Amino acid sequence: MGSTEMTILVAEDEESFIEALELGLTREGFVVEVARDGQQALDQFEKVHPDLILLDLMLPKMSGIDVCRAIRTTSQVPIIMVTAKSTEIDTVVGLEVGADDYVTKPYSMRELVARIRAVMRRRQGDETPPGKDKIIKGGEVFLDPERHEVSVRNKLVKLPLKEFELLEFLMNNAGKVLTRDIIIDRIWGAYYSGDTKTLDVHVKRLRSKIERDPSEPKLITTIRGLGYRFEDQKR
Ligand code: CA
Repeated sequence: MGSTEMTILVAEDEESFIEALELGLTREGFVVEVARDGQQALDQFEKVHPDLILLDLMLPKMSGIDVCRAIRTTSQVPIIMVTAKSTEIDTVVGLEVGADDYVTKPYSMRELVARIRAVMRRRQGDETPPGKDKIIKGGEVFLDPERHEVSVRNKLVKLPLKEFELLEFLMNNAGKVLTRDIIIDRIWGAYYSGDTKTLDVHVKRLRSKIERDPSEPKLITTIRGLGYRFEDQKR
């Protein structure tokens, strides 16, 4: 494809951050556009068609959450949310409205650039045509969305549809906490029976099929009071 320039829209209202980002990201070879409030972020988004948006959560006129929500009604452009404090709630809300990732201030330019490249890589992965490259790997677990097959420690494992979809969703978001609400909404939607145990039962069954020791899960972990996470096995 060659090295086409990537444009990053920086939605940020703190001048010191804007300056540092313009400098740092330009140095990394990105084209940087700046929006200083939420409304401007939407306008700039329409105008410059960025390849990625770095979106501060606390912006004048319109919050990062609302900007993200608005953009997601029309576009799947990668969005990295920037939060000022490391509360899991902000994080979860950000992911809930469709952000791809988040960084917490203060962050290092190195960390930020790594996140940006990771999100872009993940997105390019999404666009890979069906075939071998599409297989999702998570440590000992391989999931093939095309063939609807899961293998664990080189053995094919049979999964009913909902368990398969649940595992796929968790693995596609490896390393991220997915709240119960997000999972239920994505996997069952309006068809969720309302019995709050359904999700837990599915997680339990999944664990019994993929974990070495289901009583001490290492792949799908419970995040108390929030939801579940498929542990990032790449580290
Ligand atoms: Ca701000």
